[in-house]
Amino acid sequence: MSVASEAVTDALRELHTRFAGLGDGQLADHIPQLALADPDAFGLALFSMEGHSYSTGDAGATFTMQSVSKPFVYALALAVLGLDEVGRWVNAEPSGEAFNAISLEPVTGRPDNAMVNAGAIVTTALIPDTPGAPRFGRILDCLSRFAGRQLDVDEQVYASEAVTGDRNRALAYLIRSAGPLPVDPVAAVETYFRQCAVRVTTLDLAAMAATLAHGGVNPLTGDAVVPEPVAAQVLAVMATCGMYDASGDWLLRVGLPAKSGVSGGLIASGPARFGLATYSPLLDPTGTSVRGRAALGALSERLGLHLMHNPALAGSTVTLITTADDLPSARTGPRALARHERVAVVAAQGALDFTAAERVLYALDESRPQETGSVVLDLRQVTDIDSVARAMLRRGLGRLVEGGVRTAVADPAGRLAPLPCAGEQDEAALRPFASREEAMTWCASGLAG
Ligand code: GLU
Repeated sequence: MSVASEAVTDALRELHTRFAGLGDGQLADHIPQLALADPDAFGLALFSMEGHSYSTGDAGATFTMQSVSKPFVYALALAVLGLDEVGRWVNAEPSGEAFNAISLEPVTGRPDNAMVNAGAIVTTALIPDTPGAPRFGRILDCLSRFAGRQLDVDEQVYASEAVTGDRNRALAYLIRSAGPLPVDPVAAVETYFRQCAVRVTTLDLAAMAATLAHGGVNPLTGDAVVPEPVAAQVLAVMATCGMYDASGDWLLRVGLPAKSGVSGGLIASGPARFGLATYSPLLDPTGTSVRGRAALGALSERLGLHLMHNPALAGSTVTLITTADDLPSARTGPRALARHERVAVVAAQGALDFTAAERVLYALDESRPQETGSVVLDLRQVTDIDSVARAMLRRGLGRLVEGGVRTAVADPAGRLAPLPCAGEQDEAALRPFASREEAMTWCASGLAG
């Protein structure tokens, strides 16, 4: 066993040992097949953003998704129709009510959110249904891509809910009577029952949660299942509405976007960090797995996973603010040295986002380029620049150029290059130089010596 596997699997095993004896809760029985589940089953799984998987207990046992399907079908609807159109039919407010509550807005008839049954039925109804691509086919394909393997339907569980699902049918009729939904929610209920009966393992659910955490790209297969903004929108609704009438308490204590289902599945996503899933069918009164809730709560506390937790800032962004006097590149003769000494240098490292870009721009100011007349920004140790940071840096550098500062970037990887920059006047200033030395020489050569 590898060391990573030992460290992470050990943490999962400890949780399994700690909570396996927890015998509280009830099996769901409003869908008779669910009452046949093994009450002792307990699986835990984690997927990293690199697609590494760790699991313990009954993580390979199959069960049906039930409500855990809701965020993924919501993601499909958002990807196909966009937030504004989906939002016309389904709101995004926590209902504070049970999963099967009649939570419809008084005037519009819109369900409160897509994580309760009423909203999920409408969401399912919004998925296009065409002869070439039937609604359920699209849903099953999407769920399978989230999981990274072809999933199927547990026909017995589907049939069981189809026989007993009158409350959901009643909800659908109410929705139809309350609002002008352009499709038939009653037909959508049958599709909704099928999506709830899609069969998964705990490992599948962890991969699905990881795909949401990974900006919609399945970390195992590399498949871009939904666009990144859609993944973020789904995680936001999971954070506020994913745990039914216990959503606020969950966000307070566990601090992760999550979704539970009445078969005992539970997922949680750490944005850009991991996907987690548990399976244990004994449920608390809100319809959430008792062992799953306990295990994810303990894991979040132990590993500091709470979203609002504010860990020490990631390593320093700016590694150097100086003039050239103490740099080894100042070796080209006394005249050149004198000029090099007047070139300010700022070096940055790591991945640059908004926060890091602010640090770099602040450091550029601190290097007082207006006094030296010239500045080099050294990005050789930068591993990534997101679009926000790139735009900020290009705009900041453009301003320096406009202010008459001779400005160069050591950027052999061309990370700053692709985006046009407002206010950019001197292309040469933003031309990537392969080394700091070349950039400095270019800067120094333009200074009166
Ligand atoms: N199919 C289930 C129902 O509608 C899903 C509910 C849930 O998992 O919370 O009753």
